[in-house]
Amino acid sequence: MADDPFENMLAQMDRAEEYADVDHGIFERLKHPERTLKVTLPVELDSGEVEVFEGYRCQFDSARGPFKGGVRFHPSVTQREVEALAGWMTWKTALVDLPYGGAKGGVICEPKDLTKNDLESLTRRYTEGIRRMIGPETDVPAPDMNTNPQTMAWMMDTYSMYEGHSVPQVVTGKPLEIGGTPGRVAATGRGVSIVTERLFEYLDRDLSGASVAVQGFGNVGSNAARLLDESGARVVAASDVSGAAYDPDGLDVAALGAHVDAGGLMEEYVAGEPRATLEDRRTSGGNQYDDPDQITNEELLTLDVDVLIPAAVEGVITAENVRDLRASAIVEAANGPTTVAADEVLTERDIQVVPDILANAGGVIVSYLEWVQNAQEFSWPLETVNAELERRIGKAFDQTIEQYDQKDLPDLRTAAYTLALERTASAHEYRGLFP
Ligand code: NAD
Repeated sequence: MADDPFENMLAQMDRAEEYADVDHGIFERLKHPERTLKVTLPVELDSGEVEVFEGYRCQFDSARGPFKGGVRFHPSVTQREVEALAGWMTWKTALVDLPYGGAKGGVICEPKDLTKNDLESLTRRYTEGIRRMIGPETDVPAPDMNTNPQTMAWMMDTYSMYEGHSVPQVVTGKPLEIGGTPGRVAATGRGVSIVTERLFEYLDRDLSGASVAVQGFGNVGSNAARLLDESGARVVAASDVSGAAYDPDGLDVAALGAHVDAGGLMEEYVAGEPRATLEDRRTSGGNQYDDPDQITNEELLTLDVDVLIPAAVEGVITAENVRDLRASAIVEAANGPTTVAADEVLTERDIQVVPDILANAGGVIVSYLEWVQNAQEFSWPLETVNAELERRIGKAFDQTIEQYDQKDLPDLRTAAYTLALERTASAHEYRGLFP
């Protein structure tokens, strides 16, 4: 089960079914994606060779509105993974009450081995492949792992060329110059930081000085780490695919961010010399940065910290390692980082988990704001976007806590799932079955 994210998602639904007020027939319907398209993508690479890639777009459920979900470029993409991610998008948009359904896309590739030209050709070919499925009122892609505003610009341009006019609202997460919204790049990490603060308030604990370990220092992990650092938390460990940096006194998150932004790997950061003297750090107001130790991603997961933030891939907290975890709370920035078997142990061990469909919803909330701005041909300032993000994710957090407390549910994931399933099922009931 740990290896199959789709089975994991179904098991999460099953766990919630006994507490959710959902007709069993509709519940069964919700276990199946509406459709998945598989596309073959021959691309002529810079090297002159033609390589054939494979991609998917899954549209899971549209009862609440147009499909919405990111596109992932990664070697381990599978159809089942894309379908699981599309299902999670459906529950996420319902939980944060956006007028969307859920979708996801993925291309099996190793972006590190591709040039910028190769990535552009692959993105355009993939967009052409799924072009008949997407559209501003039907299905709106966004960035996910290894895709970014540039990828969205290529997707928007390809779609627009076929339409004969610019269609900015066909994707979200675009560069500002072509209809992106301020705040989108950092939005998922900002949402993670907001729900971590809310969790600490709920648990009546002080976030100031609290230790945080972040697995995955990409878009989501690095922004969450930066914002939590700014809120006074101590980020003691951070990792990427090459390994983790660990300093119990707190990492210099800004220096780490600059290193990663410049294309550096975590293992190079740890192996290098300290990037500034302690005195420089003190006078610049930074952390008491020293020389961090190198640990593995697996060791990072078992650190004795106040908050563990998995922000990389799914299925990292498993039945095999869950009893070694020492974090007192987990905020799931990644999609599906915890298997159901591990989840049961976390509940039994009373470790609070803010589930992915709540913790990482900041991205889709701000994507929604971008889409709305595009439709109105209007643009909002960053303060408006961030305030609206905080209001919406804060409301979803409060509703999840209320559901958890009032119904005396086993954990926050069950609370979030019951809300999301009930809302999606209710939309199905009102709409009925047609044809
Ligand atoms: P990203 O590509 O920017 O960063 C991914 C990070 O994870 C990188 O540091 C990478 O080195 C690391 N990584 C990859 N494989 C790893 C492995 N096996 N072990 C340890 N680290 C590994 O991706 P992102 O956009 O930050 O997405 C991270 C997670 O957040 C994904 O699960 C994604 O689905 C989820 N998410 C992203 C968004 C968004 O807006 N980007 C929104 C919601 C959820």
